[in-house]
Amino acid sequence: MSNLNIGPDSKVIDGKAFAESLRERVANKVKMIKADHGLIPGLAVVLVGEDPASQIYVRNKGQAAEKAGIRAKDYRLSKSSSEENLLSLVSELNADPLIHGILVQLPLPRQIDPSTIIGAIDPVKDVDGFHEINTGRLSIGKITGSNHAMIPCTPLGCRMLLESRLGDLAGLEAVVLGRSNIVGKPMAQLLINASCTVTVAHSKTKDLKKICRRADILVAAVGRPKMVQFDWIKPGATVIDVGINRIPASTNENPNKTELVGDVDFESVIDIVGGITPVPGGVGPITIACLLANTVVAACSQNGFEIPNWN
Ligand code: NDP
Repeated sequence: MSNLNIGPDSKVIDGKAFAESLRERVANKVKMIKADHGLIPGLAVVLVGEDPASQIYVRNKGQAAEKAGIRAKDYRLSKSSSEENLLSLVSELNADPLIHGILVQLPLPRQIDPSTIIGAIDPVKDVDGFHEINTGRLSIGKITGSNHAMIPCTPLGCRMLLESRLGDLAGLEAVVLGRSNIVGKPMAQLLINASCTVTVAHSKTKDLKKICRRADILVAAVGRPKMVQFDWIKPGATVIDVGINRIPASTNENPNKTELVGDVDFESVIDIVGGITPVPGGVGPITIACLLANTVVAACSQNGFEIPNWN
């Protein structure tokens, strides 16, 4: 990993390079599992409806899986499908021995309750890590060994990145901005598990700036473009910008042109941070790589193989 642009010599933490290296490690593990056990990890990606963004995500996930040697299977249901239809597909996939990971792309159409669907996925096949059994296991720190949690991909990738960059995180002051079930809360759990001192801030937090300024590690996951400014940052802090916000392009006369920015004002903070993930090219690519890693972990747990250590 020494050739990756994630070490302390570069302020901009190259998420693409980290994701590529993780994908390579996943692909090698897939080859080993096939050679040693004749098994190919299988991932089912389920999409209900025709939401254009979801279609792109699903296609990218499928292609990334195939590239890593994972057998990816797409399941498409129409926008008007009932909850019963989807539950019956999930139940088939739970019983299918060739499928080790199940991902149901969110959001779902209004007639389908996402928590009912997530709750129906076999927790050992829940590669998104959203099932209550997995969130419970994560909250009690059961992230390795038998009956370990499947960990949501974005926070898992952020923790891997932080450990690659900083080594042991124990004793560091971490602030997580955002308390969603898919990013903020699991991120906080993973940082507690890494023995950081963790504060979780949200829309009702008073004096956010002051709290953020304490952080050796600041993870921003609020969905508010460029909210975090230079005077929110402790000098030398490591900043992980999870936010993906589309705003009108700043350098173009065409009013229809847009650009992606994070929750952190990159230009304003770059001189003061120790390191920061850019948007795009930071956390985004790592999330998909972690989905592949989780699929391999799921295949290993279901077959009693040793769980890979991706470090
Ligand atoms: P949610 O909207 O579910 O949660 C946002 C959180 O931010 C909430 O806890 C909310 O507080 C808090 N918040 C909102 N506004 C403020 C504010 N002004 N001050 C303080 N806290 C605030 O978002 P997600 O967690 O799903 O996603 C967050 C961002 O991360 C989004 O931009 C999303 O696109 C991106 N994302 C990126 C991924 C990637 O792969 N890079 C993956 C997943 C998400 P409260 O709870 O009080 O409402």
